[in-house]
Amino acid sequence: MLILECPCCGVKGEETEFHGGGEAHIRRFGPGSSDEAFHDYLFAKENPRGVHFERWRHVNGCGKWFHVARCTQTLEVFGSYSAQTTEPPQDIKDAITAKRPGWRWREFA
Ligand SMILES: [Zn+2]
Repeated sequence: MLILECPCCGVKGEETEFHGGGEAHIRRFGPGSSDEAFHDYLFAKENPRGVHFERWRHVNGCGKWFHVARCTQTLEVFGSYSAQTTEPPQDIKDAITAKRPGWRWREFA
């Protein structure tokens, strides 16, 4: 069972309190983008074995979306942060790197 903490209201709870929303930090390209770029936005997800960033919504609480850094292999949670950011906070990236030297996900390391 995952234990997540909503950074918006501060509530810490089991994953049943929340709802997963897929990968975080996905870029949507604007009008005039290619069909391939739009296809990748919709369907091309990395689904890594290891640490990545994903979206969660606090459905049984404040209802806000936020991001979580989580390992898909061990279910270890490295932290949660506002969904209103384009990059994970440095302290969360440092915590991941401390436990997983050489870790990298997309452009983040
Ligand atoms: Zn909340």
